[in-house]
Amino acid sequence: MQLVNFVDGEFQQAHSTLPVIEPATGSLYAMVQDSSVHDIERAVRAANLAFPAWSTLAAPERAAWLRKIADGIEQRLESFALAESMDTGKPLHFARTLDIPRAIANFRYFASACETFDSESFYTPSLLSYTLRQPLGAVACISPWNLPLYLLSWKIAPALAFGNTVVAKPSEVTPLSAFRLAELCADLNFPAGVLNIVHGLGAGAGQQLVQHRGIRAVSFTGSTLAGRKIAEVSAAQFKKLSLELGGKNATVVFDDCNFAHAVSESVRAAFSNQGQICLCGSRVLVQRSMIARFTEAFVARARELVPADPALDSTRFAALVSSVHLRKVEDAVALAHEEGGRLLTGGERVRLEGRCLDGYFYPPTVFDQLSNDCQTNQNEIFGPVCTLIPFDDEAHAVQLANQCDYGLSASVFSQDIDRAQRVAGALQAGLVWINTWMQRDLRVPFGGVKQSGLGREGGEDALRFFTEAKSVGIALRASQ
Ligand code: NAD
Repeated sequence: MQLVNFVDGEFQQAHSTLPVIEPATGSLYAMVQDSSVHDIERAVRAANLAFPAWSTLAAPERAAWLRKIADGIEQRLESFALAESMDTGKPLHFARTLDIPRAIANFRYFASACETFDSESFYTPSLLSYTLRQPLGAVACISPWNLPLYLLSWKIAPALAFGNTVVAKPSEVTPLSAFRLAELCADLNFPAGVLNIVHGLGAGAGQQLVQHRGIRAVSFTGSTLAGRKIAEVSAAQFKKLSLELGGKNATVVFDDCNFAHAVSESVRAAFSNQGQICLCGSRVLVQRSMIARFTEAFVARARELVPADPALDSTRFAALVSSVHLRKVEDAVALAHEEGGRLLTGGERVRLEGRCLDGYFYPPTVFDQLSNDCQTNQNEIFGPVCTLIPFDDEAHAVQLANQCDYGLSASVFSQDIDRAQRVAGALQAGLVWINTWMQRDLRVPFGGVKQSGLGREGGEDALRFFTEAKSVGIALRASQ
């Protein structure tokens, strides 16, 4: 299979390619285009040429196009889910019930949003002021490998809905669902140049795109390291930036929680998508008074997640995304041992039988007896590795949770709602859940603090990011 760029409504011939590996089997299944500076140039030019017509299309017409994309993905849901599962190694069940439905919801939500969002006006007898929210132009949307279509559509949909044209660059590790999206757009005769999808390496194609003067804004989701680089490159051009970066999130469990619910939710938070979600709770802070009981239940629950072939309907835990990432997880586990951690479960690569013999499988892994300030508890692993850390009281829990350079999300489990909301207020994180994890409302601002990012996406924040405010004042007769 050749996964090529989609530029100006056409599929491009690839001159240089990269291998794409199926993580569950370790075998090559496709070659993806590694875009050159000329490929990026072509895509940015197409996006800028398409901008005047797209940005002046009435909002309901843009919304209708987004709904066509959503309907098209829905009609091909199984094929998109299969692609996502094969490309990432995640359970087909997960792709079918979370990734792809959420991509559909993203297009539908922002279709409605662009029809219903309004702008401010301010009246005095002498002056009527109002704000225009005008699209920026051609924007770059750059996304990671963990939730490929889910995160790409979370950027593309608002960018297009609010009148921008897009050059999107999915992760070179997982390009397949973006290619399927391009195929869908071609089938729909989506206006040429409005959505361009380019592939390639981050340091090459990605950086060329970010630094291109024809790109007015960059919406990026990925690692803190790459985010820092993008911020440096963009600063010289004062480019608008939205950075959704890494996390090392705390799950805070008080002894007055609903115990069974807290155990199952904190296991879900730690190991969903093999721990490869930026919101995963990899530091589980547990009140000391119940840590023995909690540890036993948590470990037993984690052991139920047995790595298996992602293509089986029954599979709930499958492969890591790549051999490179598997090695990163193995190194992190070796470091946890060196730092004196006690391994409670997992800790070694799993070999499956049959077609998955060479796949990148690693089981849920739990450590305790590690201090909160050690590297294992401070560095993002982004895999199925978590630690259990005891705390004494509310103040101690908040101190431990906040003792970290990241600040993306946190979860608090307590039946004392006064305490839970007090802790939520004190936590340094962009998102906090009480008695749940990763329950999302697309209207709320999404993003992190500290090393976890800059800016917010979602709801009105997406409107603000993907438009420029222009204030217009009209002198009224009374002042003349
Ligand atoms: P990554 O930073 O390596 O790559 C992400 C994307 O950026 C890819 O498309 C890559 O090609 C591109 N890229 C890399 N360097 C670039 C550069 N210098 N210029 C332009 N583009 C560049 O991240 P990854 O390994 O794909 O994803 C894992 C990371 O993403 C984790 O740190 C995770 O926490 C983070 N993440 C954050 C969120 C969030 O919402 N905050 C969501 C998902 C993942």
